Amino acid sequence: MPEGHTLHRIARDLDAAFAGQAVRVSSPQGRFADGAALLDGGVLEEARAYGKHLFVEIGERILHVHLGLIGTFTIDEVAYTGERPVIGRVRCRIESEAHVADLRGPMRCEVITPEDETATVAKLGPDPLRDVSGDVAWTRISRSKKSVAALLMDQSVLAGVGNVYRCEVLFRAGIDPMTPGQRLGREQWEQVWADLRRLLPLGIATSRIVTLPEQVEEVEATLAKGDEVHLTERASFVYKRTGEPCLVCGNPVQASDVAGRTLYWCPVCQRA
Ligand SMILES: [Zn+2]
Repeated sequence: MPEGHTLHRIARDLDAAFAGQAVRVSSPQGRFADGAALLDGGVLEEARAYGKHLFVEIGERILHVHLGLIGTFTIDEVAYTGERPVIGRVRCRIESEAHVADLRGPMRCEVITPEDETATVAKLGPDPLRDVSGDVAWTRISRSKKSVAALLMDQSVLAGVGNVYRCEVLFRAGIDPMTPGQRLGREQWEQVWADLRRLLPLGIATSRIVTLPEQVEEVEATLAKGDEVHLTERASFVYKRTGEPCLVCGNPVQASDVAGRTLYWCPVCQRA
């Protein structure tokens, strides 16, 4: 499932491709034909992400997208202006002279008003990619009996964190995922928040979820030099490593279902 960094990356790429230009909007698949007609010909003012929600301001209206589990939004540069082939079921296509963006398989694709956008964002917890302070999330976590593993996935507590980041940041902080929110220490929370603020931008830069310390440092050093990052290796501490030895202690990584998604953790490194 796309996590917050993916949506922020898409917003950045849509802006780079289309901001300030009148765009053609269509629905090659047909399911979004009415919505596309409302947006077609408008100027794409800005694309912005909040958590896992994407808002694309076109003319007076907003295109609201949630990718859900399988959605993708690809933005490509095109050298030709003639007929552009449609591959797969494209719900919504945004195009200009030089770019084509295709949205496939979203959970939501709808035209909304600025007021609707405000209302949607108001229901979300703080987004580590936007908000400096995570205090609102802390207030909710520290009053809850639910496990911290469930709370981190709750978008009304924290916006943008999905399963991979939840597993990996809890491992990095050495926190038992089953700890009830109200038993979590304030310093532990601050550590998790700061870690998300550090790791999510690396996700935007690399289009990958980077959590191993050596990879984190390598990516940070590359970005500090202003160079492009090319990471080919996918690696994680615990995510999707059930039964494999923990990279720190060597004990088998465990898996179980929490908040509808498989939680991965090390019962030795992550204790209450
Ligand atoms: Zn371990």
